[in-house]
Amino acid sequence: MQALRFHGRRDVRLEDIDEPATRAGTVKIKVHWCGICGSDLHEYLGGPIMTPTPEAPHPLTGEYLPLTMGHEFAGEIVETGDGVDGLTVGDLVAVEPLLFCGECDFCRSGSYNVCPSFGAIGVVGGGGAFAEFITVPTHLVHPLPPSVTTEQAALAEPVCVGWHAVSRSAIEPGDSALVIGAGPIGIGILIALKARGVGFVAVADRIAGVRKDAALAFGADLFIDASSERIGDAVRGRTGELGADVVFEVAGAQAALDDAIDAARPQGRVVSMAVWEESAVVDLNVLLLKELAIVPSLAYANEYAAVLDAIADGRITGLERMVSRRIPLAEIVEGGFEELVQRRGDHVKILVHP
Ligand SMILES: [Zn+2]
Ligand SMILES: [Zn+2]
Repeated sequence: MQALRFHGRRDVRLEDIDEPATRAGTVKIKVHWCGICGSDLHEYLGGPIMTPTPEAPHPLTGEYLPLTMGHEFAGEIVETGDGVDGLTVGDLVAVEPLLFCGECDFCRSGSYNVCPSFGAIGVVGGGGAFAEFITVPTHLVHPLPPSVTTEQAALAEPVCVGWHAVSRSAIEPGDSALVIGAGPIGIGILIALKARGVGFVAVADRIAGVRKDAALAFGADLFIDASSERIGDAVRGRTGELGADVVFEVAGAQAALDDAIDAARPQGRVVSMAVWEESAVVDLNVLLLKELAIVPSLAYANEYAAVLDAIADGRITGLERMVSRRIPLAEIVEGGFEELVQRRGDHVKILVHP
């Protein structure tokens, strides 16, 4: 089968590899849709960042590059391994693409996203979904509610990232929020905030266009064009001169982090979710004088089912509006990765159909 494999910086290749074998306790899935993630682009442009190298194979998978990419996916079960109960051929499913040891204190308490051996399928090994088939253990498989499509389920992954960040932020419905970055994760946070009843949500980006359209379509109360407006001033103008209660920073850029710290109110929170290609600089005196907390948020844990339920019961609607392009796997390098590098402002999410 064809698979997109990460070899190194600016080096991803469509290659012919063997179909994965279905082992006991796993199911084989025909991938319907897989989204290209911002973290895929970070690996492509600045990696290997999360991708293990021969010097440091991943502790759980033992794998290292070249590795098949793709982790935001959904599809159809085509084969079940020995000992699999409750899942059958033909089931439409989303896959929570996370690997963790299952035995440490964090895994046992449900916070498997901070397991010391944590990694993502499609990043650290375990196969990837920019391929026709993938085999995964059953505990990662979520059958779709009848009304949820595999396209929506592929888009649920960035919403789960947002869902977890909203939980980490401890925001209350009456609080104000600012999201810096209107790409897929920024839009995922916006969707999660609105689905969970937060009243005022501003979204800022340096690029307007389709990102502004998506932010407004998903209910942003204010779009700030950061190329012409100062984000902090625009937010203070709408939040009683104090700033936002919670700011979500997803861009992984120094200017965006500075804006986030500036735009947060005293005793507020800045939720940090980006993958950084370089170290950021933070003036702790500024945090001190505002008693501002920086709260990191990584991936998600035990939240996939909640997001799928929110899609099924209508708290989340119109997810397809995140999609700016759908392409076959054969076009992924030029029509997907390079397209996002060269025309980022024309896209929110590109979905790939293997
Ligand atoms: Zn992702
Ligand atoms: Zn663990």
